[in-house]
Order: sequence, then structure tokens, then C-alpha cells
Amino acid sequence: MILITGGAGYIGGHCAIHFLERGKEIVIFDNLENGHIETINALKNIGNLHFVKGDLRDIDDIKSVFKQYDIDAVIHFAGYIQVEESVKNPSKYYKNNILGTLNLLDSMIENNVKNIVFSSTCAVYGEPEYTPLDEKHKKNPLNPYGRTKLMIENILDDYEIAYGLKSVKLRYFNVAGADSKTRTGEWHDPETHLIPNILKSVFEKDNIFKIFGTDYDTFDGTCIRDYVNVEDMAKAHMKAYLYLKEHQKSDVFNIGTEQGNSVKEVFDTAKSVTGKDIKVKLEPRRDGDAAKLFADASKAKKILDWHSEKTLEESIKTAYLWEKSRH
Ligand code: UDP
Repeated sequence: MILITGGAGYIGGHCAIHFLERGKEIVIFDNLENGHIETINALKNIGNLHFVKGDLRDIDDIKSVFKQYDIDAVIHFAGYIQVEESVKNPSKYYKNNILGTLNLLDSMIENNVKNIVFSSTCAVYGEPEYTPLDEKHKKNPLNPYGRTKLMIENILDDYEIAYGLKSVKLRYFNVAGADSKTRTGEWHDPETHLIPNILKSVFEKDNIFKIFGTDYDTFDGTCIRDYVNVEDMAKAHMKAYLYLKEHQKSDVFNIGTEQGNSVKEVFDTAKSVTGKDIKVKLEPRRDGDAAKLFADASKAKKILDWHSEKTLEESIKTAYLWEKSRH
């Protein structure tokens, strides 16, 4: 059985669907602080799903999962993800992301579970010295959120040396889109991400979409990001899991499309996909945004045989259908 921490959240939920649809028995462990019980309910009929409400900060919560279920691998999504909040409240981030992960890893070792796929982020690189970013790029995260992810990557390597734990770390670029059957999608509160914010403004008339920064050193002045589809992302986790099972080897991979799109391009694509004339306000830069981030994902292609398949249009289309279903 596979344990998915944070499986009631955005990426974890899509990953759970992917695993269930491929006949894997899974147990989702989630404290439902940012995850949603509705996601668990939507997944119930897909396959062999168990759910435990619990918090990684409480070692007894996670230990009991290993006692109750015969776990053979872990996909670890659970953690706080908001950059701005991490700057204001680092204690919250270090306690949950670091201590929570240590509790998880120690429970794994105690139960002789030695395979883990970990959700890392391109935020571990910090301000890029070159693009596309490959895995060898210098790691210099700009905020506590990114630092927790890099620390966990290092902890995983130390646990390999000491206890033989094998890990695949996936460094996500910008994840976008929703389940193609609209069973789940992106649902954060507050929402800070670009695509859901554009789409929300279609349904909530007082919610005018804002572009943060039009004076970046890019071709149209807005930031460039790499938007990888969430179902493609789920596939990457399956490939990583199978790689661990087959090779018992640790590694780290960028997961992105290798294509950069500017905020204005995403906005224009959203207008054409929805057929709506979406209002926009131009605002100053948001703190801590790098001008340009996109992946060199050739290592994932070569070693995991994973590559991004869905286009930005497809991601925006499924995200729009999901947003519509919520309103
Ligand atoms: N962005 C924006 N308006 C929004 C949300 C985001 O202009 O309402 C911009 C943000 O400044 C960044 C890009 O969109 O340049 C992607 O931001 P997001 O928060 O989605 O992901 P990040 O790259 O910060 O992880």
C-alpha cells in the first residue's frame, strides 16, 4: 500500500486519482487544514482508498498509520506552501515542513519503509543565474518556504547514508490545470496563484485580476514561468515511484514543460479559452518574484521517461471547468 501525505490537497489529490486508476491501493494522510474532505469524497469510488485524518507534527498520528496499514512506499506532499506567509511566520513553516517530515521519516525507518517520493520545488534555486534551470544550478532559496524544501532534500540524503532510505525528489515548476473529469482541481484559500486568480475574476465580479509587475526584463515586461499540467505532474510521481521500486536509487528531477510563458500570455490564453473579456489591473511587482523561471527537464525525460504532454490551453480549459463547477 502507498501512503500519500497531503493527498486531500491540489497536487496530492490528482496524484491519488492517478494511482487509484492504475489499481494501486493508497492511504491518504491529511490534517485537512488546507486539503479538503470533498476531495477525499470525490476519490472514494475510483479505487481502493483509505483516509486517515492526522497531523505530521504529532508523531503518534503518523506512527499509528504505519501500525494500521502495510505501507511499502510514501509520496510526501504535506506541507505549507505560501512564500509570503513563510517570510512572516517562519516558525510555522519550519515546524510543519521540517519537524513534520522528520516525524514521517522516522516512522518510515522504524517500520522499514525505505522508498519516498518528495514534492520539492524550483524555489530551491532562488534567483536564476541562467535559464533554462537544470538540476545542477546553484541552490539559493530566497525565502523560508524554499529553504524548508531544500533542507528536506538534504535530510533525505543524510537518511540515505545513515539508514538506507531511497528518495526521488521532484522539483516542481508552476503546476496548472485540473482533473480532466472535473473531480478535483486547484482550491486554495486564500488563492495566490495566477491561473485560478484569473479564472476567479470571471465568476466574482468584485474580484478584479491583478498583474503584479509589468517592468521585468522580459519580452513583454511580465514574469515568465513554466506551467506544467497537474495530470502530467501526477504521471511524474508514478514514474518516480516505479523508478524507486525498480532501481532502489535516489535522484532529483526538474518537472516542467521547458516552455516559458509570460503572465500576459497566460492572461490572453485565458481570455481566448473562456471567451470572456476579463478585466485586469496593472499593479507593482510582488515581493520576491524572479523575472524568469523555466525548466530544463531533460533529465526526467532521459531517466524517468517522463515528459510534459498537455498544453497551457488544456490546463486553462480544465481549470476553467473546475472553477465553473465550484461557482
Ligand atoms: N501573478 C499575477 N497575479 C496574480 C497571481 C500571480 O500577476 O494574481 C504573477 C506572479 O507575480 C508571478 C506569476 O504570476 O509572476 C506566477 O505566480 P504564482 O503565484 O502563480 O506562482 P509562483 O511562480 O509565484 O510560484
